[in-house]
Amino acid sequence: MKESTQKNPSPKIGLIVDDDPSIRLTLRATLLKNGYQTLEAANGIEALEIFDSQDPDFVLLDVMMPKMGGFETCEKLRQRKNGRFVPIVFMTGLDDTESVRKAYEVGATDFVSKPINLQLFAYRVEFVLRATQVAGELRESESRVRNAQKIAKLGHIEWDQNLNVIHCSIGVKDIVQLCKEASISDISTFLDWVHPNDRDAAEKAIRDSITAKDTHVMEYRIVRESGEVRHVVQIGDTESLKSSGQSTVITLQDVTERKETEKKIHTLAFYDELTGLPNRTLLIDHMNKFLESAVRYKRKVVVMALGIDNFKQISDTLDNEALNVLVKSIANRINSCVRRSDLLSRKTPIFDSSVAETDANTTAKLRNDEYIVVLPEVESLESAQIFVHRLSDKLSDPFRINDANIYITASVGVSTFPEDGGDANELIKNSEVAMGFARQSGTGKHRFFKQSHNKEITRTFSLQQDLRKTLDVGDLLVHYQPRYCIKEKRVIGVEALLRWNHFEYGYIPPGEFVGIAEDSGIIGSLCEFVIDTSCDDIEVLNKKLQEDLTVGINLSSRQFQEPRGSLRVVEALQRSRLTLDKVVLELTEGTIIENFAAGMKDMIRFREMGCNLAIDDFGTGYSSLAYLGRLPFDILKIDKSFIDHIETHSEYKSIVKGIIQLGHSIGMTVVAEGVESIGQKEILETEGCDEIQGYLIGKALPLSDLEKLIVDTRDDNSNSLDDDVRMFGS
Ligand code: C2E
Ligand code: CA
Ligand code: CA
Repeated sequence: MKESTQKNPSPKIGLIVDDDPSIRLTLRATLLKNGYQTLEAANGIEALEIFDSQDPDFVLLDVMMPKMGGFETCEKLRQRKNGRFVPIVFMTGLDDTESVRKAYEVGATDFVSKPINLQLFAYRVEFVLRATQVAGELRESESRVRNAQKIAKLGHIEWDQNLNVIHCSIGVKDIVQLCKEASISDISTFLDWVHPNDRDAAEKAIRDSITAKDTHVMEYRIVRESGEVRHVVQIGDTESLKSSGQSTVITLQDVTERKETEKKIHTLAFYDELTGLPNRTLLIDHMNKFLESAVRYKRKVVVMALGIDNFKQISDTLDNEALNVLVKSIANRINSCVRRSDLLSRKTPIFDSSVAETDANTTAKLRNDEYIVVLPEVESLESAQIFVHRLSDKLSDPFRINDANIYITASVGVSTFPEDGGDANELIKNSEVAMGFARQSGTGKHRFFKQSHNKEITRTFSLQQDLRKTLDVGDLLVHYQPRYCIKEKRVIGVEALLRWNHFEYGYIPPGEFVGIAEDSGIIGSLCEFVIDTSCDDIEVLNKKLQEDLTVGINLSSRQFQEPRGSLRVVEALQRSRLTLDKVVLELTEGTIIENFAAGMKDMIRFREMGCNLAIDDFGTGYSSLAYLGRLPFDILKIDKSFIDHIETHSEYKSIVKGIIQLGHSIGMTVVAEGVESIGQKEILETEGCDEIQGYLIGKALPLSDLEKLIVDTRDDNSNSLDDDVRMFGS
């Protein structure tokens, strides 16, 4: 057994009991940082064993655990001699009031809710330990009233009712701040020191305590001569009140510091430390009141989630102090847009803990800045629109930080009650979903929540799951879109385009799933599949038809960010039976420009292996013509959006003409994409374009249909293409 807590200055030991190793890890880090030592257990049985052998100073208990859960563990701990008074803090799910109730029932000292706010958590532990210490001290004092004043901030009053004289211990004089010699001669002189508003109650409590058999505890304020207010707890129990003759003993304790800690904890629990704005917990509390009255008066409530765009990038350029200044000014400006009846709250921010762990001196870096604004009882959605305009107006002026101008924008998602949710949590969640969609469409945008957003998220999520399996299942296919040489009047190559025939959603366009594959880091695997399949297919087709078709394969910039990204492409190409001079790798301008130096090395490597390189979607991206000459590219594919308008808009026609000339001047083959009409084809032919690709020639087709198309166009005489618009595939 260790020494009693008060005498032992060595670090307190906390036992963390949770089956989730990641939670144990973060709590351990937090406790160590705050000067505690830790022990860990993954379930109740382990916890009891460790408790018996190591005698920790406090216990953090998860509710749900295998083998033995938190409630049972707590009960068992309380049955132990050294576990009767040990502080036990439960970790419960947010809003899980049932668990909180149950926890107190089985003897919990306190609880924290998950996800755990680590800053608040450290305060909580400190407070619980201190409160336990005070309680321990009081327990001791119960049996030794006469020694009570030795314990800090305790004093006692002996009251002889017959003579109406009282004797105050030094402790009482300390609390009231009277010098030793001064005397408080009778009870009314003592009561003079009690705050006027508390005086009657205090006097009544003292008189009652004489007759009472029960322990009584009462709290009141003492006003010192200086005007300073102290909070005291007056404790009387049967033992201390046992009258010896007509004399009664009342114990007083100065609890001002504890009250202040409590207040601080309250502030921390309900307000954002940096901006002083209410946090989510307080917001939800207020919102629910708003919703009740909105139901009564049949009004709408508008909830807006507001996130500062690119905050991470901004925070990278500032130190923590400057960042705090910026956030405070942002909060101020937002605050100036809300009316007094509106609610504004700041979301508990995410900190980048990796920074904190590598260097003990630097504190964690702020990584997001998000707010919720609630407009109660509005007539229509117009109020939201007005707010958003006011806000973007307010935010448009630069923020002056460290002598530099910082420009910020905010994305806003809007949900409304009752349409988009029945309670505060749902409304907030949906406004955040809408904010996510606003972000996707750029910066400084706002979006109203739609039920379809949730469906879309569900669909995206299930597609993510399915996409991982799909390579094994075989519902991914490669189709081939023909590329037609104008001069030779025949198909000379194809572009490999992915198709996903999903078992539930049917055909899903690559526009949807390529993005998901990129986000979930499996675009590299998809690309491997396309290279393997298409090289094989085209090799077989070339042999069969005695052709020399090339195959275009799309590469995504994101796959080069995956580990071994370019190496996987190289390896797949090395496996190919099709000679690599028949392979065209298609990259967009963005891919090339984004990682120019690294990209260049890869491009040269592919080139050395014998592949051809094409710039895809030319004109949509950076269109940096200056770069073009320096790149090892053979083919330039003009984006469909230009071709779409060459028949109707002369400026598009001249742009396309310019691109063709430019491409030729640096020795590139120029391909026009998305050619749908004979008119377009004729213009392109006149301007000297080399090849065309598009529905006019054919859509992306399964291999067998492609074979048929090639045979047909070969057999047809060259005029036939000009006579009718050929449509293959679906
Ligand atoms: P992209 O590389 O620009 O491919 C051309 C897209 O335009 C294809 O759409 C094609 O079917 C379509 N298209 C061709 N001619 C016409 C036309 O005359 N009219 C119209 N309206 N559309 C035409 P698809 O197959 O839906 O592919 C869309 C995009 O998905 C591709 O754009 C490409 O960026 C990406 N993608 C497709 N397969 C792959 C792949 O294997 N890997 C990667 N990384 N991306 C792929
Ligand atoms: Ca392409
Ligand atoms: Ca393209």
